[in-house]
Amino acid sequence: ERGRWDTILHAGARDAAPETIFDRILRKEIPSTVVHEDAYVLAFRDINPVAPSHVLIIPKVREGLTQLRFATADHAFVLGKMLEAAAKIAADEKLEGFRLVINDGPKGGQEVYHLHMHLIGGRTMKWPPG
Ligand code: IMP
Repeated sequence: ERGRWDTILHAGARDAAPETIFDRILRKEIPSTVVHEDAYVLAFRDINPVAPSHVLIIPKVREGLTQLRFATADHAFVLGKMLEAAAKIAADEKLEGFRLVINDGPKGGQEVYHLHMHLIGGRTMKWPPG
């Protein structure tokens, strides 16, 4: 487990993209409502919720993961931890149904370039999404 994480940190040395507001949230420089935290991910409530329950799940180290399109096998462990966190939070929030969304790139609706997964629930979802 540790080896995988070291590989991700090493991959990060190649990524010079500027940090985002999520790094400041990770450092607790700006407040957030944390609903889950472990060694790999932080989950906090979205400041502009689109549903009664709207949580953002982010990897603690962004390097190499500004957006999902750059994910490789090296990131598989932390990507799995994000899904594991989502399952736990959905249970904690007693959601009858929920949706996970990762926006990628400008045309995908991505605004913050630190990989994040939206966990949305507490209302009936529509399909197709906008
Ligand atoms: P994206 O459009 O998929 O990149 O999602 C970015 C999300 O981050 C949006 O839903 C924003 O409401 C949310 N967001 C931006 N700044 C903050 C913050 O400071 N705290 C919590 N959520 C934020």
